[in-house]
Amino acid sequence: MYPKKFDYFLPTSLNEAIKLLHDKEDSKVLAGGQSLIALMKLRLAAPSALVDITQVRDDLAYIRKEKKHLAVGALTPHDNLERDKGVQKLFPILIDAASKIGDQQIRNRGTVGGSCCHADPAADLPTAFLALDPKFVTRGMRGRRSIPSSDFFVDTFTTAVKKDEILTEIQIPYLPKRSGSAYIKHSRREGDFAIVGVGVALTVGPKNVCKDVRISLGAVAPTPIRAKSAEKYLKGKKLDEETIAAGAEKANTEADPPSDMHGSREYRFEMIKVFTKRAVKLALSRV
Ligand SMILES: Cc1cc2nc3c(=O)[nH]c(=O)nc-3n(C[C@H](O)[C@H](O)[C@H](O)COP(=O)(O)OP(=O)(O)OC[C@H]3O[C@@H](n4cnc5c(N)ncnc54)[C@H](O)[C@@H]3O)c2cc1C
Repeated sequence: MYPKKFDYFLPTSLNEAIKLLHDKEDSKVLAGGQSLIALMKLRLAAPSALVDITQVRDDLAYIRKEKKHLAVGALTPHDNLERDKGVQKLFPILIDAASKIGDQQIRNRGTVGGSCCHADPAADLPTAFLALDPKFVTRGMRGRRSIPSSDFFVDTFTTAVKKDEILTEIQIPYLPKRSGSAYIKHSRREGDFAIVGVGVALTVGPKNVCKDVRISLGAVAPTPIRAKSAEKYLKGKKLDEETIAAGAEKANTEADPPSDMHGSREYRFEMIKVFTKRAVKLALSRV
């Protein structure tokens, strides 16, 4: 199907892009187009204007080490994230997630910010980011906002980014020493969306006693969520086989998974436990 008629704008600066979004009613940001164009062709989205931000690349596509966090520009393609040496060293969880998105063409075009703003609960990067508790920075006519990760994902395909705002940067706080992170995606075939996705970021003390842990789940609720009961259980305990298994048993407490053609609700409840156990172990092995 062809999309409905729309106006197309190609601003060359962030300010111009923000003004266009503000002035043009029913307009939408176009980044990599890997989700939005498909929705428009199906007429599930029908914006009257697209504001293509790809020419604002220098301002929005970067990965920078700042003093307290790693700054990832929203227009950074998945592939650039995956290949970045700093990310590989600091946040292997993001490599796990980015490398499992669709296929190479999608990873070349799709952007980190696009994936987060699209807010598909089964997408890989939103779940992985949630385990790292980053700040999402936006710019709009009323200035800059910094949104905590707990407030960013509001509902399926809905975030806290306002209509006339652009997500510009994701700020990921560095993990303390003796930390590890991992993301595991359970899907039927390579490149499919997750049936269950699990992200883990943990920090341990001597004898692998868990000082801190964040566990995020994808595809099991309207938004990516944190498995707080499992986190609470694991904190302060020595992470051995038995404890990890007991913690993973609690990981589906906050989940409200759907039943669909890829798996029933009951199946997903079970898979959350299986993949949480594996993801915690993988993160621990990377400390
Ligand atoms: C065949 C196929 C398979 C895929 N498989 C996977 C997969 O396995 N896992 C996975 O996670 N994803 C998958 N994807 C989705 C892919 O990751 C997309 O790249 C991503 O979801 C959207 O990024 P984009 O840059 O293309 O955004 P776009 O499609 O351009 O935009 C998506 C939405 O976000 C908004 N937006 C984009 N950037 C910004 C910004 N900076 N500020 C404010 N709003 C913004 C747009 O207005 C739009 O509403 C797949 C896509 C396809 C086509």
